[in-house]
Amino acid sequence: MLKLPVYLDNNATTPCDPRVVEAMLPYFTEVYGNAASRSHPFGWAAEEAVDYAREQVAKLIGADPKEIIFTSGATEADNLAIKGVYEMYAAKGNHIITTEIEHKAVLDTCKHLEKQGALVTYLKVNKEGAIDLKELEAAITPQTILVAIMYANNEIGVINPIREISTIAKRHGVLVMTDASQAAGKIPVDVNADGIDLMAFSAHKMYGPKGVGALYVRRKSPRVKVTAQIDGGGHERGMRSGTLNVPGIVGFGKACELCQLEMEEDAKRIAPMRDRLEKALLQLEESYVNGSTTNRLPQTSNISFKYVEGEGLMMGFNKTIALSSGSACTSASLEPSYVLKALGLGDDLAHSSIRFGLGRYTTDEQIDYTIQCVTDTVNKLRDMSPLWEMFKDGVDLDTIEWEHH
Ligand SMILES: *Cc1c(COP(=O)(O)O)cnc(C)c1O
Repeated sequence: MLKLPVYLDNNATTPCDPRVVEAMLPYFTEVYGNAASRSHPFGWAAEEAVDYAREQVAKLIGADPKEIIFTSGATEADNLAIKGVYEMYAAKGNHIITTEIEHKAVLDTCKHLEKQGALVTYLKVNKEGAIDLKELEAAITPQTILVAIMYANNEIGVINPIREISTIAKRHGVLVMTDASQAAGKIPVDVNADGIDLMAFSAHKMYGPKGVGALYVRRKSPRVKVTAQIDGGGHERGMRSGTLNVPGIVGFGKACELCQLEMEEDAKRIAPMRDRLEKALLQLEESYVNGSTTNRLPQTSNISFKYVEGEGLMMGFNKTIALSSGSACTSASLEPSYVLKALGLGDDLAHSSIRFGLGRYTTDEQIDYTIQCVTDTVNKLRDMSPLWEMFKDGVDLDTIEWEHH
């Protein structure tokens, strides 16, 4: 029996794996010490658990455990990386290079720093969602201190060539920071092979708990330093103070271990489901995949259904499928997605997009239901749409001058 609603919003957050919950439980009620309490066994046991989790987290990304700074999530890690580098390397320069399609945690941090005197270059992307590496290199100046480019995009799943990006940055002695919230645990990420200096990631995007994440900070060649953004106590080698969330960190560690063991199998099972869903939905006329279909996460598909509003579509699902649309997903306003607009989509196509985020628990039965429900709803909405009727009558809607009120 298919249980409704179907959850296809795994890019927003994933459920906790039951094995993660099981690993966490003792750390609420039995091993409840403060990991910073050095004077008694309760503290030692908590510290031991954190040390073990730090190894699990580091192993997933090929890092040394000492290079892992636990945070409250990727938003905080993004803030710490960018603000921390900006302050620490102020003597070298004030220029940061990023892209137009970063997560708000990166974009808003850059906006904040611009008010404080930072110079930020926002690289454009093509319709596949890719930056131009020549443009990246041309943007670097002697004042450039950081290149901050996401590993994989949360809306369209497009994967950036981080190795090539870091090769270019290294040639000019510039640090590379990447937000790998969507990539870590889903595709192989190796901070050394990829030449990454700082990397933000989050437990709740990889079947771990919410409210915990990490910043990887390289310790060797080069030794990277960031100015702390939260002071007090000097936890996490002085880079991030605050009592550690021991159960959360234990869960994060377990989630990383499971992803490392299972990501390949997960991808082999999920990608064909994603492809089947996409193929079926592209049977609908005037439907388009947004972003690259080759350089992409295995579980994401972003599709626009022209002449249908994403929000209307979702209402049409009558709460039976949990998804995100290209409208209003990042804020309370009805602005269409800035990521889709950066790909060159007009407001109409951006508004008519839906993000399908599959995950570890997605089933074939759920995909069958989704194909049926989306197909029926798109057809139903189009049957009621005057624009669709005009399109079918051969009117070229792009050439019509609309009256604006
Ligand atoms: C989810 C996400 C974040 C924010 O992570 P939190 O742990 O929820 O703060 C940042 N960047 C990307 C790309 C994300 O997908």
